Amino acid sequence: MMSDKPQGFDTLAVHAGTEPDPATGARQVPIYQSTSYVFRDADHAARLFNLEEVGYIYSRLTNPTVNALANRVAALEGAAGGIGCSSGHAAQIMALFPLMGPGCNIVVSSRLYGGTITQFSQTIRRFGWSATFVDTDDLDAVKGAIDDKTRAVFCETIANPGGYVSDLDALAKIADEAGVPLIVDNTTATPYLCKPIDHGATLVVHSATKYMTGNGTVTGGIVVDSGNFDWSASDKFPSLSQPEPAYHGLTFHAALGPMAFTFHSIAVGLRDLGMTMNPQGAHYTLMGIETLGLRMQRHIENAKTVAEWLEKDPRIEKVTYAGLPSSPYAERAGRIVPKGAGALFTMSVKGGYDACVKLVDSLKLFSHVANLGDTRSLIIHPASTTHRQLEEEQQIKAGAAPDVVRLSIGIEDVDDIIADLDQGLATATA
Ligand SMILES: *Cc1c(COP(=O)(O)O)cnc(C)c1O
Repeated sequence: MMSDKPQGFDTLAVHAGTEPDPATGARQVPIYQSTSYVFRDADHAARLFNLEEVGYIYSRLTNPTVNALANRVAALEGAAGGIGCSSGHAAQIMALFPLMGPGCNIVVSSRLYGGTITQFSQTIRRFGWSATFVDTDDLDAVKGAIDDKTRAVFCETIANPGGYVSDLDALAKIADEAGVPLIVDNTTATPYLCKPIDHGATLVVHSATKYMTGNGTVTGGIVVDSGNFDWSASDKFPSLSQPEPAYHGLTFHAALGPMAFTFHSIAVGLRDLGMTMNPQGAHYTLMGIETLGLRMQRHIENAKTVAEWLEKDPRIEKVTYAGLPSSPYAERAGRIVPKGAGALFTMSVKGGYDACVKLVDSLKLFSHVANLGDTRSLIIHPASTTHRQLEEEQQIKAGAAPDVVRLSIGIEDVDDIIADLDQGLATATA
């Protein structure tokens, strides 16, 4: 038996959620590439369908490999339970699904991953949901945006394209006073740098596609629930606090307590929306997480060194890295992400749009891709790619002005990363 002392991050990253395979003794988590699971008898099947016994029915709902991953991420985030999803974007819909109904809204940070802005401003309207975008640094604006149809507040720990850190404690307090959960997208920080539940968040969502898997091989997502929210304190969350017609009238919160959200997400959310993670993807992500702490250490060390070098370079106008003492978010970063402010930031290049395009084309080590959180260093020029459709004024507001490039610093030797930027900038600003 292990002692009761809570295990450290790196121990959990290697061990949590898994044990040697009971059937074969296999030490690594097997890829359970099976759609269905044989019931012991008719009574066993009935107990599983009634949620009286936990077990496997059909892989759209649960699968042992996916379950191991969800439990490992829950352990790393200090959560009660987790759900594996087919992508980060799927995880966001899955996080909202038990909370929302037609006419309900969420209050969200205006600084979010671009795809999330589109999902929240356009696509969720088809469900009769809506999002109110606010500057989450303006706490009065956040309070003012919450109304009696609000069901959650949503932000990112370290927001894309970089340099911004959310004041999770202050936002959690506002959400709590309004009787709604705070949902935090922790993709760019990972639980190694920040555990949002410790700062008052109820739900945490991840794109496992990024640092969690770590090497650009998987599209996946995770939702974890703290288990701390009292869904029955008001009549705002009837799917959890009242008999759920979509699951033969089961009252999830009364029946399952801190696991109500997790079980609802599996029994109703995955069952009917089908945004399920596949076992092969879960296996890659489990392997990635084993080295998450080691990789993040190198990512933040490299990002800081590169940001400091760039800030001093005369060819650079500005670097927005919250890990720099010059950042307006330096103090907050020390509170929310004390080990380091991630490895994603932007810089403004003297010479504007043309110099940025030339830089992107001249780099040899960096890959020009629409991704982040890879072991490899990545670069993108938002104004000519992801933010191309926006007016210049909108680009500037989104932190993606024509002279801005976004860097995702990898785990290569930092001297090689700097050498590549140095030669690229020489060509770009010649
Ligand atoms: C990539 C990303 C997402 C979306 O995740 P997918 O796995 O691509 O669906 C959401 N939020 C953040 C912060 C991301 O970086």
